[in-house]
Amino acid sequence: MQRLKRFLIRSLRFLVQIVFSILIGLGKWLGLSEEELIGRHIRINNYLVKHEPWPAGSNGLFLLAPSCLQNKDCTAKITNDIQECRRCGRCNVKDLLEMAETRQLPLMVVTGGTVARERVKENNYGGVIAIACERELETGIRDAFPLPVIAIINERPEGPCVNTRIDMKKVEEGVNELLEGA
Ligand code: SF4
Repeated sequence: MQRLKRFLIRSLRFLVQIVFSILIGLGKWLGLSEEELIGRHIRINNYLVKHEPWPAGSNGLFLLAPSCLQNKDCTAKITNDIQECRRCGRCNVKDLLEMAETRQLPLMVVTGGTVARERVKENNYGGVIAIACERELETGIRDAFPLPVIAIINERPEGPCVNTRIDMKKVEEGVNELLEGA
């Protein structure tokens, strides 16, 4: 029964991806905002992923965050080793690190989508919580398929790619919901 449910939800996710690829492609001619379309795709994807049972034998949940979350003046080499973070609290890396430790989840801060996708493929994770901007998340959801990805859009109070922020409540919710489906 679980296998059938997983198959049906995955098929639906795939179908949704195709529909949104077409819509995003046609968006400029139809006058639709790409960011808005991606936002809708992410919401539907997350809804479906939360209801999808994980495959047996997978390696739990993985947390992925972008390096732009790190305070721009911080010199800690957290993309090499997250434990380099001194937990000063100037950015959300401290919060993510503490949550990952409490929940015993692997956390990685990556410089770009390619590195993130490679890391996910190298390991047999059951699901991913990915934090990034809309475009990176849209690409990540497609590239990681059929892996379930809960996508969380970052906040960009200072513009793209610098001192970005994340609502930790959303991350907690994502972790809880994904683990419920495990
Ligand atoms: S919380 Fe960690 S990553 Fe963020 S500024 Fe402080 S030391 Fe750097």
